[in-house]
Amino acid sequence: MTRGISSMVGEIQPSATLSLKEEVSSLEKMYGFKIIDLTAGQPDTGPTQDVLEALVEGGRLHKYGPVQGDTELREVLPSVLNAEVGVKYDPQDIAITIGAKGAIDILMRVLLNCGDRVGIMSPYWVTYPESVRLAHGIPCSLECTTNLRPDTARLQAELKAKNIKVLLYSSPCNPSGIVYTMDELEAIAKAVKQEDVWVISDEIYRNFIFDGKTPASILQVKDMRDNTILVDGPSKRFGIPGWRIGVVAGPSEVIKALTKLQGHTSSGASRPVQHATCVAYTSQEARKASEEMRTRYERNRDVFVRGLNEIDGFSCATPEGAFYAFPHVAKFFGRRYRFDGSEYAVGGSAAFRTFLLRKAQVAGVEGAPFGMDDHIRFSLATKEEDCVSALAGIRSALRELD
Ligand code: PMP
Repeated sequence: MTRGISSMVGEIQPSATLSLKEEVSSLEKMYGFKIIDLTAGQPDTGPTQDVLEALVEGGRLHKYGPVQGDTELREVLPSVLNAEVGVKYDPQDIAITIGAKGAIDILMRVLLNCGDRVGIMSPYWVTYPESVRLAHGIPCSLECTTNLRPDTARLQAELKAKNIKVLLYSSPCNPSGIVYTMDELEAIAKAVKQEDVWVISDEIYRNFIFDGKTPASILQVKDMRDNTILVDGPSKRFGIPGWRIGVVAGPSEVIKALTKLQGHTSSGASRPVQHATCVAYTSQEARKASEEMRTRYERNRDVFVRGLNEIDGFSCATPEGAFYAFPHVAKFFGRRYRFDGSEYAVGGSAAFRTFLLRKAQVAGVEGAPFGMDDHIRFSLATKEEDCVSALAGIRSALRELD
């Protein structure tokens, strides 16, 4: 026996955004650049005052709480989910996890045996395939249509051919901002019912939907409750990603198994944070702040995506929700530029991202870890001025691409 780290951890890809942060700060230090950071997967504003005060007040909850989550929060969530998703859950059908990321991680361990396959709708959030691998499962990417929509026509055949046990997606989608329509969700529901597949519907961006539309959920399709697990959370809607609260609602056997597992991993989530989150879900002030964020991100979407599509070579499907733009950038691949006395080629999305860092002083995240190397992701959860300045930087940098 020799000392060493597990081979599974060796196979996991490090977070693309974290290594990017290092690249950004080293360029800023070396060249005195001020880089516009469009990489953030989080809102640019924080919780409202009443929610902050509730966090302090929650400090009195200093003892271990229920592993499934504090009753106070689990009793508030059914009316939220009923109003927003149109599905009735009891507090015992809901579990509180350590962020929505913690929800995805623990659900994989709840559902998968070694070698089980999870179908992940592409493009996908970077953590999905890694969370499947961590549970000794096999992630299988399911390709989208050319306009980044779920390819429902091929879905059933793919689920069957790849022997998929769990289907996983986010809608509104990180990174594309695509929001699945009711027709698409009905087609997905039909395919998963036919093949007897679990669905994990990650709806963490539900409150960021544009153009006056209302979000649709696969849970609104008849008879989908018994094989659908809803992942949700307050991180994005209330600007509290650092507080680490996630929400899972689903069939009782799943919630019971998750609670059993959580009892030996994290235990119940932080109680003061659960208390403050409970206040956030019922606060008019927090609701208003959330709506203000949504309106700003919609305006940023309008400005940025229109601007990008006016630049020769970019082609960006209009995000219908969330706060990202995910343009196709492969037209720039194979071109060259000079920087600091050397010549570089743009070989793929990571090289294009580095080109933008060096020449436009704009940071986005390459598409490869989202499953689509022909793309790049920009976060629009920022000030409108940043979106406008980023566009100007990108335009002038492209003039230097041979
Ligand atoms: N799902 C998606 C689609 C996300 O984009 C994120 C955060 N980037 C999460 C889940 C995780 O959220 P949390 O901060 O609650 O862990």
